[in-house]
Amino acid sequence: MPAAVAEILTAHLDREDGQEDVVLATYAPSTGRERTSALLRRVFLPQPGERHVYGNASFTADYVMRVTEEAAAAGEGLVLLHSHPRGTTWQSMSTTDRTTESGYAGLGTAATRLPVIGMTWGGAGQVWSARFWFARTSVVDADSVRVVGATFASSFNPALVPTPEATSAQVRTVSAWGSAVQADLARIRVLVVGTGSVGLDVAQRLVASGIRTVGVMDFDAVEHRNLDRMIGARRRDARDQVAKVEVAARLLRAQATAAHPDIRRHEMSICGPDGLRVALDYDIVFSCVDRPWPRAVLNQIAYADLIPVIDGGINIEVADDDTFNRATARAHTLVPGEPCMACTRQLKPARVALDREGLLDNAEYVRRSEIDLERAGQNVATLSAMVSALLLAQFVSLTVAPGGRGVPGPVCYHYRPHVLEHLEDASAPSCPWETALAVGDSRIPIATGHAHADAIVMSRRRAGRTLRGRFRRLRRWLAESSRI
Ligand SMILES: [Zn+2]
Repeated sequence: MPAAVAEILTAHLDREDGQEDVVLATYAPSTGRERTSALLRRVFLPQPGERHVYGNASFTADYVMRVTEEAAAAGEGLVLLHSHPRGTTWQSMSTTDRTTESGYAGLGTAATRLPVIGMTWGGAGQVWSARFWFARTSVVDADSVRVVGATFASSFNPALVPTPEATSAQVRTVSAWGSAVQADLARIRVLVVGTGSVGLDVAQRLVASGIRTVGVMDFDAVEHRNLDRMIGARRRDARDQVAKVEVAARLLRAQATAAHPDIRRHEMSICGPDGLRVALDYDIVFSCVDRPWPRAVLNQIAYADLIPVIDGGINIEVADDDTFNRATARAHTLVPGEPCMACTRQLKPARVALDREGLLDNAEYVRRSEIDLERAGQNVATLSAMVSALLLAQFVSLTVAPGGRGVPGPVCYHYRPHVLEHLEDASAPSCPWETALAVGDSRIPIATGHAHADAIVMSRRRAGRTLRGRFRRLRRWLAESSRI
């Protein structure tokens, strides 16, 4: 849920008299490949007489009917929330909770054709818990509840996502921010889209700091011209045209400090329906791509699906005589309340259209229209570490919130005078990306399929099936094994 929704809910549920209370809301589904999220959209505070407070708090049937009708009319689902003021951890249901929720589950699922969500606020521990009711008798516990704003906070269901034990390799990390922070951080699922110089570096540092589930997404293979920036890629990888995600996975396995690392390779583009669904399984996404179309998809899910996107890049300015003039590195976290990529001029809608039509992959078109793609992709390994550093610092502000402070807003580092500037960018009034908040699966379809990326992946797979391809794989495997 957006932090603003959480604030409304807790302001109502945290009562001075310490009594339990109830409230209703609606949600939109956001369907990933493995995970379905219920995105809380609208809160309907009870009107006088719509609930009973003293003793076990309860909804009146009129209140539930009113909100169920609102939900059904908007194509949304129903959320039943109540508080356990003394709850300090993920709350299980009392007999009364179960009877109440089960009683309204039949009505709610029939009227909205979506599962009914039951949620409990453990007031003392400020912990949410949730479950999906598919029918009166069919209930499935959620694995986590995420609150997304300037900070990202996740409550985990310990039965489904147990606290990982810190390993001996993480002693210095845990001593920096404590075992509670480490336990939360380790369970966040992070996706890095784009595994060039910055993405590859970011992903390695995430697994090194103990994050268990890290995914890497890229459809390209390593080429010789990547070797000056992809630290850890080998000449052999370029010669054999190894997928970038394969190289990334190899490096991540070597760097991971979690007891049971879960490194996921996604050899695809985020501009296709599969890529989008994969991204929706993650809690936080790093945007390390420079093409407009994938950036537009990421800009969308940050708001529509409440998945924080940490975006950044480098801009190198070459003087007319081809000498290096200056460079700037930027970083920015896209969350509700922060401006999107379009509002910060990091995404040009006209370019998105060209990219979707495949025109940026058309060498003749790019030459004739004088779009300088090579120059747009310029980067230098000695400079790109600053971009990784800025992105990772945004990640720490978002998840660990040092001193209670969340993300700082867009920042820009100027290499020539060595100055870090806080940019004053603000959201445009009624920005279409940001106002489509928590719409989930009703988002405007942008990830409609990237034919060029699919063709690249397919041709690599076909090449891998030839005798020469199999021989190369065997040789790679032998080389890996002999090193271990
Ligand atoms: Zn915007």
